[in-house]
Formats: sequence, C-alpha cells, structure tokens
Amino acid sequence: MDLTGYGLTLFWALALGAAAAAILWTQTHKRRTSQAPRLYLEALRAIVDGDDHTAFERLKAVVTEDSNYLDAYLKLGDLLRRRGRHDRAIRVHEELTLRLGLPKPDAIAVQKSLAQDYLAAGKPQEAESALRKILELQKDHQWAIEKMVRLLEEDGRFDDAYDLRRDALKRSGQSDGHLLAMYKALEGLKVNTNGKGHDARLSFKEALNHDAKCLPALLYLGDSYWKEGRHQDAVEWWTQFAESEPRAAHVVFERLRKAYFEMGQFGEITRVYEHTLEADPKNTAALLGLAELSLKKGEFDNALTQFRHVLDIDSDNVAARAGIVRVLVEQKRLRDATNEIDALLETTPFHGGGYICKRCGNRSDEAAWLCPKCKGVETFQLY
Ligand SMILES: [Zn+2]
Repeated sequence: MDLTGYGLTLFWALALGAAAAAILWTQTHKRRTSQAPRLYLEALRAIVDGDDHTAFERLKAVVTEDSNYLDAYLKLGDLLRRRGRHDRAIRVHEELTLRLGLPKPDAIAVQKSLAQDYLAAGKPQEAESALRKILELQKDHQWAIEKMVRLLEEDGRFDDAYDLRRDALKRSGQSDGHLLAMYKALEGLKVNTNGKGHDARLSFKEALNHDAKCLPALLYLGDSYWKEGRHQDAVEWWTQFAESEPRAAHVVFERLRKAYFEMGQFGEITRVYEHTLEADPKNTAALLGLAELSLKKGEFDNALTQFRHVLDIDSDNVAARAGIVRVLVEQKRLRDATNEIDALLETTPFHGGGYICKRCGNRSDEAAWLCPKCKGVETFQLY
C-alpha cells in the first residue's frame, strides 16, 4: 500500500468517526432536553400491547412535558372507545376540555372525539352538546352537521333538522328542495297525530313550496282533509300524488276507490287507473284495478286478458293469479281453474306485500317516509 492509500483510509476513518460522534451527541442531547418522544413511543407500544395502564402513565407524562402531544391523549381515548370502554374514553377526553387556550382545531378535535364517545355510550343529549360546541367553533363542520342531523331525525325534531340543513345549504350555495320538503312533511305528520289538522296542513304546504312533488306532503294533506270530511279536497291532493309519481300511485288507489265510492262517482276510479297507465304502462296495481272492475261488471273475458297482462309483467303476481282463478270459477271452467291454482301454488309465494326499510329491514304495510323502527328518513322503497 502506498502513501496515497494510507491517506484515503485515514480520511474515511476520521469521517466515519465524526459522523458517529455527531449522531451520538444529537441523541444524548435530545434525551436530555425532552423525554416526550421516547415516552410517546412507549405509550403507543403499550397501546398496541393492550397495556392500558402503562399507556396511560406514559401519555400523562408526555402531555405534562410537552403540550404538543395532545394527539396522544385523543388517540388513547379513541382506542378505549373502540374497545367498548366508553366511560373511560369519556373521562380521558373530558379531561382535555379542561385545558385552557386550546387552538381551535384542537378544541374541535377534542369535541369530535367526545361526541363519538357519547354516541357509542348511548348518550345522545351529551353527544348533541359536544356537536353543538363544534358547530359554535366552526359553523360548516360537515361531520358535525351530519351527526347532528341524524340525532335530530332520531329524536323527531324535524323543524330543527330543517333549520340546520337549510342554513348549511345556504352557506354552500346549494339547494335541496326535496330534502327540505321532506322535513316539513315529517314535521306536519308529527303535528297531525296530535290532532292539529290545520297546523299540520301548514307544514305540508310549506313542504310543497320547496318541492311541489313532495309525496308525503301530498298524501297526508289528502288524509288530513279526508279526516275532516272535506272529501273533494282529499281527492284532489291524492290525485296530485298519483300524477306526481305514477310508479307510486298504488299508495293512493285504495283511498281514491273508497272516496269515489262514498261520493257516488263510481266511474272516476277507472279514469285514475287509465291516467296512471298512460304515464306508466307497466303499472301492475292500475292494471289489477281495471281487471277487478271488469270482473265486478261481469266482463269476464276482459278481466282475464287484464289479469294475464299483469302476469306478463310480473309472473309471480299472486293477486293476478288469484284473479284468474276467480274469473274461471265464474265461467264454470273448473278444470282450468284447478290448473291455475296449481300455478298459483308454484309462484314464489307472497314476495310482495308491504314495504321494506333498506336501512334496518323493518316491514311496513303502509307506505312510509319515516321508519318507525330505526327512524330512517326515506328508507322505504315505494316502487
Ligand atoms: Zn328502518
């Protein structure tokens, strides 16, 4: 090895030594000035190991030494909540609310964790108060708005849900007439059950100002007038319901049938079915209605054709099959009737019948816009 080779080796040895010394000095120095990073790591490790006690001790030490580690406390509380230890999560997060002068984003983060704790613990009032604090700090906090709206819906406070949504929409320059109308309609329905027909109708009409095709508003306006003996008004609103959404017209068919019968206007219901079929040619409820009328009038061949038409659209339609059996019996074609009964027994039995909530699976015989079980808004499919 020549002199140049020795020089290079010496150079590298010195360079590496200096680097090692620098790293060592930095680490020692850090350790001396703040224990927080090490404690925080130990806490996280304890969280992972499920050692809550150690995690708590370390995290307390961390926040005492360095207030920037607020996040550590938040995390621990969130973890406790996820493990179902709601009361401890609440205690951890509540302690953070006592700290004065938190910057706004931190104060919001603390309330957000608290709100989740209370929701998980089944304490909606406390959750609402935490959400309210978030919205005081930041009016357009989308997460808080969504959670708050859900709480208000569950509590049946549709006017409050309406106000919150309307203000949020206004701020973002958007509009959602359908949703705002829905809240007004549900508020009206709530009032209506307390026997205040006039107040209820005001809400329904407010709903229609937002959305002229708001189905519950149209339906319940009709129901409300019907209850007070104003049959002609009732019929007008129910008809508007059927015209606004022909696919859901079956909801008002029975009401209109009864109303026209009581008013002695027997022919009118035919017009309702035909009108519906013009807009929605495959409306099986309207076709069944016409078939029933034919059967009643003794027009058996017409009835048969109409019932068969329903089966072309929906081969499992139990009402149509049963209708065919009735026609055949009337025509004394008993062998054919027996064959139809066999076919009836082979159809997927009674797949229809009622409405199902797509959130909780609850069944309802009545058309509904509010699930009585999970309080979901518009969770039933009408058609
Ligand atoms: Zn439901």
